[in-house]
Amino acid sequence: MDLILARNRTDLIKARGGGTLALVPTMGALHEGHRSLIRLARDRADQVVVSVFVNPLQFGPGEDYSRYPRTFDADLAACREEGVDVVFAPAAGDMYLPDRQVSVCAGEMGRIVEGASRPGHFDGMLTVVLKLFNLVRPDVAVFGQKDAQQLSMIRRMVADLDVPVEVVGAPTVREPDGLALSSRNRYLSAGERRVALSLSRALRAGAGEPTPARVRAAASKVLAEAPPELELDYLVLVDPATFTEVSDPYEGEAVLAVAAKVGTTRLIDNMVVRLGR
Ligand code: AMP
Repeated sequence: MDLILARNRTDLIKARGGGTLALVPTMGALHEGHRSLIRLARDRADQVVVSVFVNPLQFGPGEDYSRYPRTFDADLAACREEGVDVVFAPAAGDMYLPDRQVSVCAGEMGRIVEGASRPGHFDGMLTVVLKLFNLVRPDVAVFGQKDAQQLSMIRRMVADLDVPVEVVGAPTVREPDGLALSSRNRYLSAGERRVALSLSRALRAGAGEPTPARVRAAASKVLAEAPPELELDYLVLVDPATFTEVSDPYEGEAVLAVAAKVGTTRLIDNMVVRLGR
């Protein structure tokens, strides 16, 4: 069956099949990372819905909402190639009522690490994700580990608000040289792209170390040696469930996360590291 393009709740209801449904929320400008999520979704459910919506609520003033890449025709073609059943692409004006009042508050976890750099970002992201869940009514929703704090916050929302959706995390897809795929990579010049490689290099350096102090030191060293075009925002080693910093002694999984500006482009990346025995 050909791909169905849904613009609103009525279209979604008409497109709904009888079996299980998996949702892959995206902001479009689809790349191989998004495609890996779609494939995972297809393994998990009978029907796959991909949402394409650049959510104004999760962009702060001065961020790249207006210049965020919009490649809708190519996105539709990618979804068709991946056997997606429905693309849900609402118009920005149709998602939010002009007199809307109620939204999701991400809590303390939404104000730390990435949330400290982007005030209000996680409130806006959770609000749109909950709306997408209510519109699409998926059994399963797939999110990338690339946005580790986002994934963690969505798991938190689902637990705290008893949202009846199974959240599935998917590994980060990288270029052969280590750069994590991102819709924002297209902003990078060839020179900036080389500079951006310091992020994944730093994460790899940290990931082999046995203690929090040594993980941070090894990753920091790589970033300190990076070209001056790299403007570090944060490098943290955090508990995956809470995003609070871990300290020595620590055993188990932690997330080594980094954010930096290269030129005018802000990039984030992370790796899960295993500490202790
Ligand atoms: P975005 O369109 O950037 O909002 O991302 C949509 C979904 O794709 C999110 O769940 C992201 O975490 C995920 N994603 C983005 N980049 C990658 C990547 N390189 N590998 C795997 N998933 C990704």
